[in-house]
Amino acid sequence: MEPKEVKYKSTNASHLVEKAPVNINSTPKDTTLTIKISRPPKTEKTTYCKRCGSLVDKKNRKCTGCNKQYFRLSKVAVLWVLVGIITVGLIGLNVYQYYQTLQLNSVISELQDTMVSKSSTISDLRAKSATYKDKADFLDNEIAIVPDDGTYTYHKYGCLWLNKSSHFWAYNIEAAKAKGYKPCPYCYGS
Ligand SMILES: [Zn+2]
Ligand SMILES: [Zn+2]
Repeated sequence: MEPKEVKYKSTNASHLVEKAPVNINSTPKDTTLTIKISRPPKTEKTTYCKRCGSLVDKKNRKCTGCNKQYFRLSKVAVLWVLVGIITVGLIGLNVYQYYQTLQLNSVISELQDTMVSKSSTISDLRAKSATYKDKADFLDNEIAIVPDDGTYTYHKYGCLWLNKSSHFWAYNIEAAKAKGYKPCPYCYGS
């Protein structure tokens, strides 16, 4: 590198001042180089009004054209709004579930009532069927039905060979036997 001659122009520009050439062989007194890096100041982007297109004042964030006020969304505010929305949502869900549970409970109690009434109906029917069984047993064991068909046989109620539309007599078993009627082999077995 050649030594450079630097010329400085004086402020009144009347003459040129010559400076001695820089001797690159001379050792510099201080070799440490301090570089001061200063952060560039935060510059806000210039924004333009969405309504009228004029410049928006950076300080008060107001449109210089139509005076529309702009707000900067702070992250904290957004976070709080989100927390609020979630909280309201959760509360709503809880209330919904609470009322749903109430409704289900009323359905359950209705069904329980129905079950109670059905089971009382069932026990009524059981009692009735016991009475009818008593009647049927009495009819089968004690009563001989003798149709007027000339066969001189007596039957139980419901026998295939008993034509209920024809005339018949009813005796107790002993009386039928005494009159000479024979038990039907189908309904009394052989
Ligand atoms: Zn505007
Ligand atoms: Zn019979």
